[in-house]
Amino acid sequence: MSRVALVTGGTRGIGAAISMALKDAGYTVAANYAGNDEAAKEFSHVTGIRTFKWSVADYDACEEGIRQVEAELGPVEVLVNNAGITRDAPFHKMSRQQWKEVIDTNLSGLFNMTHPIWAGMRERKFGRIISISSINGQKGQFGQANYSAAKAGDLGFTKALAQEGARAGITVNAICPGYIATEMVMAVPEKVRESIIATIPVGRLGEPEDIARCVVFLASDQAGFITGATITANGGQYLT
Ligand code: NDP
Repeated sequence: MSRVALVTGGTRGIGAAISMALKDAGYTVAANYAGNDEAAKEFSHVTGIRTFKWSVADYDACEEGIRQVEAELGPVEVLVNNAGITRDAPFHKMSRQQWKEVIDTNLSGLFNMTHPIWAGMRERKFGRIISISSINGQKGQFGQANYSAAKAGDLGFTKALAQEGARAGITVNAICPGYIATEMVMAVPEKVRESIIATIPVGRLGEPEDIARCVVFLASDQAGFITGATITANGGQYLT
C-alpha cells in the first residue's frame, strides 16, 4: 500500500507542486488549505487529489482535520508543513495582529500539525516531517520581522525535533526556498522582479517544482540518514 502524505497549503503555489510530485512518486496525497474553496476545487478536479479545509493556526481544527484524513486515507507517514502567509510592514508600523497572524500560521502551525501526528509515527517507527521555511528566515528581510522570526523558528523546531525522532525512525528536515515564481512573486512589477533576478546567481526565479523535488527526496525511504538538515534552494542568492 502506498504511504499517505499530508501537505498543508497543498492546493496552490509551491504546495500544489509538492502535492502533485508526491502523487507522481506514488503517495496517496491529502492537500489541506485554509479558505480558497474555488482554487481547492479546481486543484482537486485537475489532479484527482483529495482536499481538506482547516486552518493550521487552530490546534483543535488540526486534530480534527488529521483525524478525518487518517479515517479516510490511513495513517499519515509524511507531513509537509508548507502553509504560510505574509503580513509585511516595517517594524515601526507592524501591528500586534500582523505579528500574531504570521507567528500563529508560520510557526505555531508546525506545532499544531506535527503534535497530533507524532505519537502515531513513533508507534509505527517511521515518519517524515518536512517544513518549508524561507531564505528570509536564514538572512532576515526588511519589513518581515514577523515572517523572518517565524521562519527562523521553524529551523530551530526542525533541529530539536530531529533529535527526538531519530531513534523512532522519524526524520525532521526543512527546506529554505529563495524567490519562487508563484502568483505572489509574479504579481510584483516586472522591474522589481528583474532587480530580484539580478541578485540570483543562477539568473532565474525558482520554480515550485524545484522545491517539490527536494520534498520527494526527503520523504523517500532512501533519505533516512538525513535529519535535522536544511536544504537551501535559492539559486545561490544567499549562502549559509
Ligand atoms: P501561496 O500563497 O501561493 O499558497 C499558500 C497556501 O497555504 C494556500 O494553499 C493557502 O490556502 C494555504 N494556507 C495559508 N494559510 C493557511 C492556514 N492558516 N491553514 C491552512 N492553509 C493555509 O504560498 P506559496 O506557495 O508562495 O508559499 C508556500 C510556502 O513556501 C509558505 O510557507 C511560504 O512562506 C514559503 N516560501 C515561499 C516563497 C516564494 O517565493 N513563494 C519563498 C520562500 C518560502 P488557501 O488557498 O485556502 O488560501
